[in-house]
Amino acid sequence: MISRQRLTVRGIVQGVGFRPFIYRLAQELALTGWVRNDGAGVSIEAEGETAQLAALQQRLRLEAPPLAQFDSVRLEEMTPLGLSDDAFRILESPDNASGHFDAAIGPDTAICQNCLAELFDPDNRRYRYAFINCTDCGPRYTIARRLPYARAATSMAGFVQCGSCLSEYTAPAHRRFHAEPNACHACGPQLSLYDGSGQALAGDPVAETLARLRRGEIVAIKGLGGFHLACDARQPDAVARLRERKQREEKPLALMFANNASLAAYVFMTHAEAAQLEAPERPIVLLQKQASCNRAFPGIAPGVVWLGAMLPYTPLHYLLFHEAAARPSGLSWLDQPQELALVMTSANPHGEPLAIANEDALARLAGIADAYLLHDREIVTRCDDSVLRVLPGTQSPQFIRRARGFTPRAIKLARCGADVLALGGVFNNTLCFTRRERAFVSPHIGDLDHVAACLALEEAVDHLRNILEIKPQAVAHDLHPDFFSTRLALQLGEAWGVPAIAVQHHHAHIASVLAEHGVNEPVLGLALDGVGFGDDGTAWGGELLRVSGASHERFGHLRPLALPGGDRAAREPWRMAASALHMLGRGEEIATRFADQAGAGVLAQMLAGKTRSPVTTSLGRWFDAAAGLLGVQARMSFEGQAAMRLEDLAAAYGELSPPTLHEIHLDEGKSVLDLAPLLQCISTERHAGRGAALFHAGVTAALADWVEQAARLSGLRVVACGGGCFLNAILARDLRLALQERGLTMLEAHAVPPGDGGLSLGQAWVAQAKLAQY
Ligand SMILES: [Zn+2]
Ligand SMILES: [Zn+2]
Repeated sequence: MISRQRLTVRGIVQGVGFRPFIYRLAQELALTGWVRNDGAGVSIEAEGETAQLAALQQRLRLEAPPLAQFDSVRLEEMTPLGLSDDAFRILESPDNASGHFDAAIGPDTAICQNCLAELFDPDNRRYRYAFINCTDCGPRYTIARRLPYARAATSMAGFVQCGSCLSEYTAPAHRRFHAEPNACHACGPQLSLYDGSGQALAGDPVAETLARLRRGEIVAIKGLGGFHLACDARQPDAVARLRERKQREEKPLALMFANNASLAAYVFMTHAEAAQLEAPERPIVLLQKQASCNRAFPGIAPGVVWLGAMLPYTPLHYLLFHEAAARPSGLSWLDQPQELALVMTSANPHGEPLAIANEDALARLAGIADAYLLHDREIVTRCDDSVLRVLPGTQSPQFIRRARGFTPRAIKLARCGADVLALGGVFNNTLCFTRRERAFVSPHIGDLDHVAACLALEEAVDHLRNILEIKPQAVAHDLHPDFFSTRLALQLGEAWGVPAIAVQHHHAHIASVLAEHGVNEPVLGLALDGVGFGDDGTAWGGELLRVSGASHERFGHLRPLALPGGDRAAREPWRMAASALHMLGRGEEIATRFADQAGAGVLAQMLAGKTRSPVTTSLGRWFDAAAGLLGVQARMSFEGQAAMRLEDLAAAYGELSPPTLHEIHLDEGKSVLDLAPLLQCISTERHAGRGAALFHAGVTAALADWVEQAARLSGLRVVACGGGCFLNAILARDLRLALQERGLTMLEAHAVPPGDGGLSLGQAWVAQAKLAQY
């Protein structure tokens, strides 16, 4: 029997080789009809034997190209047209300027094996061509200006394809059929190298770049979503120079290795971690260091447990390693360990957003880079490297930063809600748009304490709104009245005539976890964090909430700690240690114990007189206090440094059985967890490693008891966990085990970071829930 069906496929189906795939499938199944891209995604009309049509539906899902991602496939029965339609065709996209574009642009993807094989085949016309790509790989999000995704709507528009490229691009059976960034030596983007003063340099840009890296120079390398600053990771002088010029004194730097084999001698790597490194998204993966790591790469990741490592993802990265290996033919060299290891750190001076334009990079990186490896394909959208780790004891990823390779991939929500925009908080910020049951979280934008980052936030709003074609019905923001993101939300709400909805910081952290897990029932929320603006105007950060959709209730909190000197206390753990001593009734020790810190005596008076000492319930500050008491970190050069140092020491020391060094009491109807006994105990500990291990074990045991009690009282058995403290792998792992032992279910963030990078998703989820109540 002959039937005709129309299939509407939504999701990431444009720019991933979906139409040629359907074309080949239809020919194989002897179907007639057509396929085309349109505003909804891809539409197919197919006519033929009913059994063959059923096979099309099945194989469409099973054999889809690697980068395709389905949200839905809708089926309509049509009237067969008969013999008039005698072939299967690929139709042009309709001019759908007014349509509601439902298609999605895919993320940027690492070079595929087929392209890699061509890249290192001396007989291939794209041998050593730095911009080789196909429908299975290459840039997408960072070159796209608007939908539908087509070459004219990308920064490849200005490159006219040569005859050879065009014949691939127009051949339905070819791997490069409608590979929008398709290009070659003859017609595509080109590399060029400039010295530190912006003078063009002659010679082969790849060879010359490698020679300079070998000489210890710092080279700015233009990548997919921004620039990297690169240097030879095995040269301590070069690394030190990079740190000095970038004013990134102690933050860990990410390294790029040719393959996992080159990395194996320096880190512990599980199968799950190896797979993450090799995944097409190519994130930076945090791996636990072996002792050999600090010796081989001094100054790369001082004082932290892990090394951030990644594999090459653009053809250009591979060319640098190929050059270092003396240009071998074929791919077998990539199975062998390679000696070259490159520091590849985002070229964002002093925390500003990434530079993306050539002139901008030359200007802003002057004095930092010794040379610039540039190209003439414009980066339309900035997109940082993603950073993740595999949570110990699980196979699940945890994002530290979600960007390249993942954005703009949607996060599926459990329910269909209003379209909203959420603008996040202030640090490690992201924004989030929702469209019905999908959430689109922007790449990491940065800290909104720089004008440039604030501008980047506004740009990201415009860009994502354009490519997603969303008209938000509300704008969500943090409860903090003074954040730039809050002011922007109020402005946009007014301009668009929609409500601005404030969402408490820790409610948003928990909601972000609920959004990704599709949980709509009431839960306990454990938010462990730096600092967020609380409902009562004080600084929260160690909160036990009862969260039910749009509403939350503070069930309990950590005992408040004084912040002597206000914000400075958050950067100087010795101040938090002094605060702890004061709390323990040992204020008289402060002046002598911290005699090496200017103003210790004044600080003691400040605490005693309760002047300039606001309080916070932040767990992050309890960690700082512990680090200060153990003498491992008096001052921090970046956020979370003291806690990372403690984690490193605790990991090196090994596990301790959990002590009971805490008290739980009721205060004004709230359950208050007091960790003072734990600090009392470690304040006399002389071995920093043992103290750090004891602190971790004590905090975990305390939190587990606290949550268990709340679970008993509330009848809630699910605990959603969020906040930056969950980036501490020991805390996350041990708490998961402890809650499991107590029969509770712990939900963690896997799709977005547990820290402030995940706030926007939670805000959007709460705003959707609020709108649903009206
Ligand atoms: Zn490819
Ligand atoms: Zn060409």
